[in-house]
Amino acid sequence: MIRFEDLLDRVRAYSPDADLELLRRAYVFSALEHKGQVRHSGEPYLVHPLEVADILAGMKLDAVCVAAGLLHDVVEDTLTTPETLRERFGEDVAHIVEGVTKLGAIPFSSSEERQVENFRKMLLAMVDDIRVILVKLADRLHNMRTLQHMSDERRVRIAQETLDIYAPIANRLGMSKIKNELEELSFRYLEPVAYATLRTRVDAKRRTAEGSIGELKARISAKLAEAHIPVVAIDGRIKRLYSIWLKLKKQKIDLDQVYDLIALRIVTPSVRDCYAALGIIHQTWSPVPGRIKDFIAMPRPNGYQSLHTSVISERGLPFEVQIRTEEMHRRAEEGIAAHWKYKEGRVGAGRDEQHFQWLRQLLEWQQEVRDPQEFLTNLKIDLYPEEVYTFTPRGQVKVLPRGATAVDFAYAIHTDVGHQCVGARVNGRMVPLRTRLKNGDIVEVMTNATHKPSRDWLSFTVTSRARNKIKHLIQAEEKERAVEFGRKAFDKEARRFDLNPARLLEGGRVADAATEFGAQKPDDLLAQIGYGKVSARQLLEALVPQEELKEKAPEHPVLTAVRRVLKPGGEADRIKVRGADDLMVFRARCCNPIRGEKIVGYITRGRGVSVHSASCPNVLNLQYDPERRIDVEWDKASDTAPYTVRLTMEVEDRKGMLAALSARVAEINTNITNLEATTGDSVHATIGMTVEIRDMKHLEKVIKSLRGVEGVLDVSRGPR
Ligand code: MN
Repeated sequence: MIRFEDLLDRVRAYSPDADLELLRRAYVFSALEHKGQVRHSGEPYLVHPLEVADILAGMKLDAVCVAAGLLHDVVEDTLTTPETLRERFGEDVAHIVEGVTKLGAIPFSSSEERQVENFRKMLLAMVDDIRVILVKLADRLHNMRTLQHMSDERRVRIAQETLDIYAPIANRLGMSKIKNELEELSFRYLEPVAYATLRTRVDAKRRTAEGSIGELKARISAKLAEAHIPVVAIDGRIKRLYSIWLKLKKQKIDLDQVYDLIALRIVTPSVRDCYAALGIIHQTWSPVPGRIKDFIAMPRPNGYQSLHTSVISERGLPFEVQIRTEEMHRRAEEGIAAHWKYKEGRVGAGRDEQHFQWLRQLLEWQQEVRDPQEFLTNLKIDLYPEEVYTFTPRGQVKVLPRGATAVDFAYAIHTDVGHQCVGARVNGRMVPLRTRLKNGDIVEVMTNATHKPSRDWLSFTVTSRARNKIKHLIQAEEKERAVEFGRKAFDKEARRFDLNPARLLEGGRVADAATEFGAQKPDDLLAQIGYGKVSARQLLEALVPQEELKEKAPEHPVLTAVRRVLKPGGEADRIKVRGADDLMVFRARCCNPIRGEKIVGYITRGRGVSVHSASCPNVLNLQYDPERRIDVEWDKASDTAPYTVRLTMEVEDRKGMLAALSARVAEINTNITNLEATTGDSVHATIGMTVEIRDMKHLEKVIKSLRGVEGVLDVSRGPR
């Protein structure tokens, strides 16, 4: 048990001028007020405020803060009033204790209204004096350390609240030391079985690991000395159980597969020495690709700075190395508390400012929210950043909303980069374009000047900038096609009457006709023909006197027209359409029919004829009126450029699945243009594969051979 004199020594050691008299008075007062009270452990109650004050002294906080730690429970648990505290210990101490008391009054299981009310006060207190939250965190830490004396039910509740609310706050304030301990303790009480099992297993590895740490430290020390790189300290440790556990859960692996159980930390005098040390580490051992992170040049949002790398020792043992300066180390451990040393009072300016920005934001929106439920939801979200901080390879920060993908990133750089984006590398690895970005991702966009966005991108992009640009370009392209089709339809109609279409469209009457049909300019009118809103004949009648058309009309109208239909790759295909020769024809996106397949046509509202596969569910669903059905067939004379077809497979989630599938497709001389996998539950995965198909027979062959691969449960056409 800590003695008060030890606490005084501790404070005196880092702050010789501290008001020790204030601490002494606070201690005596607290002892008197808590007299006779005992904790669940059976110890005198005074132990608790003393320990809390000691935690605060451990963070080298000012005397006011430590005094507030000694007094933090007197208003809550004794008859003391805030007024008494104000008279005896001054405004600051009273203000902090009051703030902490209000936080303590929040039972998380109680009515939401009260939680909200108290949270609001807590937030107000936090923003006008951050020491309230520092005392509260110290209080929570000591309570977590002594949680074994509580009942099961309270343990779980307190641990959950710690994990949900207090550990994230500590993290947001950059106080990793406290955050780590809160998480470890919460884990222990929330998942007692998992914790005990993991602990036993890690302990079994501890001896070997500690031996390795010793050897590695000696090696690093010698290497750095050889290169004349000064070092303040080299530490080695086995990773925390909670972080190992998260890794096991997230990656669905066993402890034996956790490759960086060991972490070493090198603390150097200067930033230059950090990079020099990193160089030596990489010269000595080979780095694991994609694991080098430079948080010195690009600090985390909470201000964390360090170099990280993972390397593999001569014995094949991978381990992580963190390199930082003394100053960075102190800030990483203590976060905002590191800025508070020897300082009196309130929120300062400059560097601290960024830490407080999120608190201010919280405060701003909480005043606007009326509904308690909504407030709590918002609070929980906001403790984690809403935004993802991503980087270009040159280290430029791009702040995107959560859920943003590589395509959003590309549009955030430049509209053209977005339009021409064909692939992306995240942290050096190729990923599908729809991949959601995470904090700290370094994103490299690959472009191709001839590439254009697809409608599919609208299904996964989240930024309005990207979505608007994509929609705009798709609409412009559709319109271009419609104009082209409209012009052709008009040409054909004009020639039936032996008229020169070009001359008709040059004349001044076209502009009038456009206005008549509600179009801005002649091209818009042609687009309307392409979209099927206006017929070519209607336009012709508007341009040429009725008698002229009658005279030259042929004896029978053309019933069958051959239309060129664009394939997804830009290649054209030909489809015969019966009875309509001035409609735009396009392949339906839902089923994307391919040559040889039975097809049906539908006249859509305003967009021409849509050609579906006869087996398309949209056709079967009777979404279309029978009278809008129109006969279509493949034109035999057409070319044989391949179609791209997307297949979706449900497979067993096992290693080598993607390789097996691509090998099988390659065997039958088929190109794959895109391949991506998403993991579902632990045993199943979904694989999307886009292949180039010549005709229906070819497609059947590909599907059949994919079904033959072991572990494939289902193959279907189209996206899921
Ligand atoms: Mn307390």
